[in-house]
Amino acid sequence: MVQVNLQTNILGANELIARKNRVSFKSQGILVINLMSSPGSGKTTILERTIERLGEQVKIAVIEGDLYTDRDAQRIEQKGVQVIQINTEGTCHLDAGMVTSAYEKIDKADLDLLFIENVGNLVCPAEFDLGEDFRVVVISTTEGNDKIPKYPLIFHEAKAVLVNKVDLLPYTEFNLQECQEDLEKINPSAQVFPLSGRTGEGIEIWCEWLLGEVRAKGRNS
Ligand code: MG
Ligand code: ZN
Repeated sequence: MVQVNLQTNILGANELIARKNRVSFKSQGILVINLMSSPGSGKTTILERTIERLGEQVKIAVIEGDLYTDRDAQRIEQKGVQVIQINTEGTCHLDAGMVTSAYEKIDKADLDLLFIENVGNLVCPAEFDLGEDFRVVVISTTEGNDKIPKYPLIFHEAKAVLVNKVDLLPYTEFNLQECQEDLEKINPSAQVFPLSGRTGEGIEIWCEWLLGEVRAKGRNS
């Protein structure tokens, strides 16, 4: 009997394309962030606030991964930055090849920062390297504290974790300290930013850190 390990083959092919993406991103000096979360955690809202805060100093573009719609892409476009939409037609994650195609369509002149908003899903996006510099994961207070212990891989690989919807803390069972302790166990080096995309609380601190990362990438390439 012949058995094919499909998972390994898919990921192996993805890894090769991701490496090529990484080389292209580096040669252009663009910081590329893979932004991940479960659906409804507030990735797009955080991007809107981030563009409002940094858009004057940093040239930003966004690749929007979505199952079927362009709703998030339209919201980002209204902020005046370049957006390339990827509709995955039901595939629940982005892969490196999709990002290559989208990246080809971006005007790279003077671009400093590229966000890739992944499909809302805490499972398989973590398995697919897109060639990004690093990953940022959003968890929101309305999701409860279980997400970090239940989906450790995605949190383990994040350089920063944004704890969104802190304005709703009084109305949820979410325990911020427990969240920070869970992250400390899984990923002690992660930067944790409690914030609210809705009220803007904490956005300044996240954007200061992000600006430092953008400048560091610019210097190193
Ligand atoms: Mg979104
Ligand atoms: Zn998937």
